[in-house]
Amino acid sequence: MAENSGLPILDKALDEANFYLKQSLPPWNEASGLQRLIIFFFKLAIILPVLILIGIIIAGYSLYIIFYVYPLVSSTSDSPDLYFWHSNSEKFTAELRGWVCFGLSSWNLFWLCISVYRAMMTSPGEVPNTSTWEITSINKEVSESTPLTTENRKDGGIRICVHCNLKKPDRCHHCKQCGKCCLKMDHHCNWIANCVGYYNYKYFYLTIFYGASAMAIFIATFWESVVVALYDKETSNSMSFIIVLTYSLMTMLGVTIIAFCIFHTWMIANNYTSIEFCEKRRFKVPGYEKSPYSISTIENFKEALGQNPLLWYFPFESRGKEDKGLYFKSKKY
Ligand SMILES: [Zn+2]
Ligand SMILES: [Zn+2]
Repeated sequence: MAENSGLPILDKALDEANFYLKQSLPPWNEASGLQRLIIFFFKLAIILPVLILIGIIIAGYSLYIIFYVYPLVSSTSDSPDLYFWHSNSEKFTAELRGWVCFGLSSWNLFWLCISVYRAMMTSPGEVPNTSTWEITSINKEVSESTPLTTENRKDGGIRICVHCNLKKPDRCHHCKQCGKCCLKMDHHCNWIANCVGYYNYKYFYLTIFYGASAMAIFIATFWESVVVALYDKETSNSMSFIIVLTYSLMTMLGVTIIAFCIFHTWMIANNYTSIEFCEKRRFKVPGYEKSPYSISTIENFKEALGQNPLLWYFPFESRGKEDKGLYFKSKKY
C-alpha cells in the first residue's frame, strides 16, 4: 500500500529492507552473530528517517535561537545596529520581539514534540479479532454477522485480507511494511516509522501543522539575521555563509511543509485519505469525484480531529468511545 516519505528512492529502499528483514532473517533470539549485525543495520536504516526528522527539529530550533533570538534579547550583544536596532527605543522593541518569537517557537516546539511522539507510538488501529470480522474456513465470506460495508468487491462480496485472514472494514488497507491491516489507512509514513490511520491521523496532521507554523515563523523573521550577516563587516564570511544557507534550506523545506499541510487540511475538509485521493479520486474512479464519506465540512473535521473544535489544536483524542474506525457515515454511491 502507499508508502510516503516524499522520496521514492528512500521509500523503495526501506520497503526492501523491511521485506528482507521479515522474510530472510530469523528472529533476534535465533540469529547468529553476523545475522544480528545485519538485523541491527537494517533496523537502523528503517529508523534513519526518524533520526533525520528529530535532527532537523533540533537543528532548526537551535539555529533560530542562536542566530535570531539571542542577538535580539541579549543586552550585552555587540550585534550590528543595521536591522536589529538603531536606537535605544528600537532596542527595546527588538528585545520584546525576540522574547515573543522565543515564546511562540518554544510553544510550537513543545506541541510538535508531543505530536511526533504520539504519531509514532499510537497504533493506527487494527481489525478486531471478533466473530464479525473473522473469516471461518467453512464460510469464507458471508455469514449472518457479515458487517454492512460501503466498499465491496466487484462481485459484491465483502473485502477480505488474505494476509490477516480477516474481513476488511471500509477504508481499511493492508500495510506490507507493518504486516497488518490498518483502520482508515492514510499511508505508511517512514518519517515516523508507523502507519498513519484512524487513531493516529490527528497526531500526524498536527505534526505537519506545528511544523508548518514553525516554518512560517522562521521564514517571516529570520531574514533579519540574513540582512545583518550580509551587511555587517564584523560577521565572518563563514558565519554569513551558515546563516544564508540555513535560511535557504529552511525556506525550501518550509514551503514544502506548508504546502503539505494545506493539502492535508483540504483532504480533511473533503474527507479523503491519501490512499483514496491518490488511488481513486486522481484516477477518476466512479463515486470518488466527491468522497462517499463526506457529510459536511464541519462533520468531516470532527471525524478526523474530534468532536470539540476547541481541542482540535491539541494532540489529544476527543472522539466518542463509539467511534472505532470500523464504520463510517456515508452517502452510498
Ligand atoms: Zn491485512
Ligand atoms: Zn504501515
